[in-house]
Amino acid sequence: MPFDIIAKPATPDSNLPDYDAVCAGFSWEAARSELDGLPGGGLNIAHEAVDRHVAAGRGSVVALRWLGKQGDVRDFSYADLAAATGRFADALTRLGIGRGDRVFSLAGRLPELYIAALGTLKCGAVFSPLFSAFGPEPVRARIERGSGRVLVTTPALYRRKVAGWRHEVGSLDHVILIAGPDDELPEGTLNFAALLDAGDPQFPAAATKPEDMALLHFTSGTTGLPKGAIHVHEAVVAHHITGRYALDLRPGDIFWCTADPGWVTGTSYGIIAPLTNGATMIVDEAEFDADRWYATLQDRKVTVWYTAPTAIRMLMKAGDDLPKKYDLSALRFMSSVGEPLNPEAVEWSQRVLGRPFHDNWWQTETGGIMIANYASMDVKPGSMGRSLPGIEAAIVQRREDGGVEPVEAPMTLGELALKKGWPSMFRGYLNDEERYAKCFAGDWYLTGDLAMRDADGYFWFVGRADDVIKSAGHLIGPFEVESALMEHPAVAEVAVIGKPDPIVGETVKAFVALKPGFEPSEALRRELQGHARTRLGPAVAPKEIDFRKNLPKTRSGKIMRRLLKAREFGLPEGDISTLESDEA
Ligand code: ATP
Ligand code: MG
Repeated sequence: MPFDIIAKPATPDSNLPDYDAVCAGFSWEAARSELDGLPGGGLNIAHEAVDRHVAAGRGSVVALRWLGKQGDVRDFSYADLAAATGRFADALTRLGIGRGDRVFSLAGRLPELYIAALGTLKCGAVFSPLFSAFGPEPVRARIERGSGRVLVTTPALYRRKVAGWRHEVGSLDHVILIAGPDDELPEGTLNFAALLDAGDPQFPAAATKPEDMALLHFTSGTTGLPKGAIHVHEAVVAHHITGRYALDLRPGDIFWCTADPGWVTGTSYGIIAPLTNGATMIVDEAEFDADRWYATLQDRKVTVWYTAPTAIRMLMKAGDDLPKKYDLSALRFMSSVGEPLNPEAVEWSQRVLGRPFHDNWWQTETGGIMIANYASMDVKPGSMGRSLPGIEAAIVQRREDGGVEPVEAPMTLGELALKKGWPSMFRGYLNDEERYAKCFAGDWYLTGDLAMRDADGYFWFVGRADDVIKSAGHLIGPFEVESALMEHPAVAEVAVIGKPDPIVGETVKAFVALKPGFEPSEALRRELQGHARTRLGPAVAPKEIDFRKNLPKTRSGKIMRRLLKAREFGLPEGDISTLESDEA
């Protein structure tokens, strides 16, 4: 089934009305000049995200609207956030925390987590968020690898995940607990609220330099051991401008990024970009629930929404009738990141929600969105869109001498590469210079993802280099096969792997989870195989299809094909610290 291009109006209401014109006139210096900076050439993310707006008289605008699990709502204006983050920064400073020190967080999406993140940056220290559902070992391993000096968490998480090993990690000087007024604090811990009370609300942002380390983000662990990516304060220039161009963010927007700050999306776009752009950000403490999500979009009048393919597939699974019960008319722009977005999902959103999801692509390492479908641009379902102004993206092939060569011919398969030098590019992998060096060839950063670019400059994701299947001389991208199977009405989720085969090298195997109302059967298996053969041809269609209740995913919602492979071949599972559902 071909997917029609979703055309946009000729005179679009968009921050990027004319892509080519904006690209031609773009410079990072000009982008930087949209921000304040600090006297003496300093730059601090917290100042740009919060204090700048207060200084400009926008202090009363709501910066953070927090939705508690039980239905409670708390608003924090930019002025409130400026004061609270000042207090936290002052408290850290008094504890002897300063430039370069690592402050970790391990908490659900509580307001204090946001205050801690921005307060840490304000004090000049490095913020490293962990996902609250990690087990004790993954928490310890990351804090140890990152030489964490401070951990901000809750009493319950502390008892379950930290207390057992705390004193074995020598770097960890302070544990700060987000506690209720009646909570008794374990010995050797500090009370977040008490520290805030004693802190100075006027504490000014530390005069960090653009190249000072600001954020330490661990990757999702989809392909192996999570890597610690180092980001600097200069990254805020990219957060800001990509928020404006790729997410179409404007002052006055009600913006909802559904990602948890434990992942880079939840920080770059769940904290920093909406604030630098003067929006009101919605933070929902609760986990996914289709009804609650549609109600949130309606009741909070969300104008810009940023979510992920796994969540979109869950919404699709919840049915087409559910969204009809809600008024989604405030929504101006919807976007998605984290995994390939199947064309079926884009078509579904256009048909059922009345507007398309705009896919965009980036990585922990890139710090910000690099390729996107813009509000003003026709959407080609299945494509990640075009590179951001200021970003030179190319498809490259490796030469024998180890260098790389950009390929110009449209729709040629190669590795997606980015010309180095954008502000939010990672500056290193924690304690692993060799690995960092290996990511570059000459001026190019090599992403490890395979893609193609069409004649209009739209990029098409093919698969991660590790996941591409080599069968009888063909290179088969798992995404193409998965997207074809997704079109079948019975399929809720699918992952495709290559299975070693003595004759053809590898054969294609698919793991399929079904929508409610469908049961695994031999007849359905044959029907899916027939559907795939019609769509893809016999050489590319899966030879084998297994039904699963669920597919193994990272906690950030990415399907872990490496785990499906390991299990299929009886190999060691490797690092599974980020694994979420495991009902294979
Ligand atoms: P690890 O590097 O630890 O294996 P990870 O690569 O999943 O984990 P992230 O940095 O969170 O960690 O994810 C970035 C990757 O996610 C990209 O390299 C790409 O493979 C995938 N990705 C993100 N957005 C998209 C998208 N829009 N389309 C296709 N793939 C995407
Ligand atoms: Mg990666």
